[in-house]
Amino acid sequence: SGCSKKKEPVTDSAYMLGTHLNITIWTENEDEGKKVIKECFKRISEIEKKMSVNIKDSEINNINKNAGKEFVKVSAETSKVLNKALKYGEISNGAFDLTVGKFVKLWGIGTYNERIPSKSEIDDALKYVDYKLLKKDEKNGYKLDKEGMRIDLGGIAKGYAADEAYRILKSNGIENAVINLGGNIFTLGTRPDGEIWKIGIQDPFEPTGTYMGIVQFSDKAIVTSGNYERFFIKNNKRYHHIIDPKTGYPSENGIISTTIITNHSIDADALSTSVYILGVKKGLDLIEKLDDVECIIVTKNRKVYLSSGMKDKFKIKNNSFQIEN
Ligand code: ADP
Ligand code: MG
Ligand code: MG
Repeated sequence: SGCSKKKEPVTDSAYMLGTHLNITIWTENEDEGKKVIKECFKRISEIEKKMSVNIKDSEINNINKNAGKEFVKVSAETSKVLNKALKYGEISNGAFDLTVGKFVKLWGIGTYNERIPSKSEIDDALKYVDYKLLKKDEKNGYKLDKEGMRIDLGGIAKGYAADEAYRILKSNGIENAVINLGGNIFTLGTRPDGEIWKIGIQDPFEPTGTYMGIVQFSDKAIVTSGNYERFFIKNNKRYHHIIDPKTGYPSENGIISTTIITNHSIDADALSTSVYILGVKKGLDLIEKLDDVECIIVTKNRKVYLSSGMKDKFKIKNNSFQIEN
């Protein structure tokens, strides 16, 4: 950029959307840099206020409270995220379902109320989970058809938030940055030395920060869903937070983590959850059909499946994992 001063990293963290957020940028002006990151966090806090189910008066909770009763008008951006979520419901053939909230509440995974629901509770809850029962009108109004239904945007809202952070950094002229919203990574530009960003893929069997492989991408959203993010263990069995809407139980198909790489984090987020539930075969088929989307799937038996565009972009670091072809 022709500046004589050397760029230094400026980093800041926050806790929102139920997760740790961290943004690091490289800049000649530390004060400006800090301000820009604060602006990102302020934006994310606005998103949380509208879209979180853990905030009493969020727009999403207003829709939930009025389930079976009346349409609730929401902001343009909440409408955008809802429409994306509905779209991924269609694309994934219902694997991604924004009305999964009833199950999320029943299992309580990651809360003080976590427990294994009874079979009859699950059977009953199944009647309240179906994205097709979210109706919309022309004025950003939404209504859940049945009282008791619950929208939960936990599988997509962080993605939208990461896109907004990226947009804010870009529009402030930032050229080198890494956004990390609880595992939703977005790389901006290059590393400060001009090299392409290298991002570690979490080893699902090891503590956070242990990587099983590396990907190299610039200006891409990289989102991972894993069964190690949020779970409880009972009688030696792990119950995690990614629920198969067709059964009401945590998805069990051999997959242990899915990583999606694409241009927008909102898409990567919805797809990481979708592919996790769809399984290896259907998941890869879906990703191959979509333009500019790549994925890495890791299974419990340490096999790694890559989409076709990933083969020369992923480097394995731990040879106890085996890449399948
Ligand atoms: P993480 O929250 O760890 O990033 P995901 O992006 O995969 O993981 O999202 C999991 C969250 O999405 C759950 O905590 C829940 O709020 C919601 N969720 C769970 N199952 C589904 C599903 N089948 N479709 C849509 N959202 C889901
Ligand atoms: Mg997701
Ligand atoms: Mg996620």
